[in-house]
Parts: sequence; C-alpha cells; structure tokens
Amino acid sequence: LPTYAASGRMLRRARLRRVGRRGAVLQSLDALLRDIVLYRDGHRCRKCGLGKRPGRGGGLQAAHIIPKGAHPALRYHLDNVILLHAYPCHLGWWHKDPVAAVAWARSVLGNAHIDRLELLARIHGRSKGDRAATRIYLEAVHAHYLGLH
Ligand SMILES: [Zn+2]
Repeated sequence: LPTYAASGRMLRRARLRRVGRRGAVLQSLDALLRDIVLYRDGHRCRKCGLGKRPGRGGGLQAAHIIPKGAHPALRYHLDNVILLHAYPCHLGWWHKDPVAAVAWARSVLGNAHIDRLELLARIHGRSKGDRAATRIYLEAVHAHYLGLH
C-alpha cells in the first residue's frame, strides 16, 4: 500500500489530469478568492446573516453577482463576490430568481455598486482578463487580510 503522503501525491496527480492545467489554475484562484471573501464578510452569509451550518449545503460560498460564466473578467473582482450559503441562499435562492437577487443586492450594496459592475461587464464582454495579474492581486489582498495573524 502507498504511504499516506504518496497516496496524496497520486490523488493530486489524478486530479490535475482530470481538471487539466487551466482547471488547476482556476481552482487555486477560487480558493484564494473564497478565503478572502470569508474573511471580508466575517464568515457570515450576506443573505441570512448566519454562519456555516452543519450538513449538506450549509457551507459558505463565494457567490457572483454578475455571472462568472458570461463575464469571466469579473470572476475574481472582489466587488462582484459575496459570501452566501450554498443552500438555500446561493443555489436555492439566488440562482432560482436572479432578477429578485440583483434587486436585493442593489438594496444591500447600493445602486452605484451594481451600476459599476454592470458597466465593467459591458466593457470586458466575454474576455477573461489577465489571470497572472489576477493572481498577484488576490495574493496581495489575501496576505493583507490573512497574513496578519
Ligand atoms: Zn444564508
């Protein structure tokens, strides 16, 4: 049997093969983003105000205001991300009724905030932006928030 460390390496290699190089880059940027947003939003869901709940769907996610699929340049823009429970707040509410969700976001974050995001979405279109610059930016913010303790 492989040692624990060796089996970890094999799992990581298999995972890298499965998700590919691009997937691995996005996964590591996603992890940085989630850490930052957890810290910034105080480990509480912006919708219901509660922390992580036990059980399936109770975890907290970095949820996008402007969809990251249609607007990849805004995937790592901190103003475009809020902390929500996977369920029900993100996948069970936001994704079920995005029009109501954006209206809610306007009331919570302010019209100017959402207007800026919508303007950026129009400017960037479907471009994914500069991932290397994104990493430098996220690592600097991460160090600022989380490297202090
Ligand atoms: Zn919630």
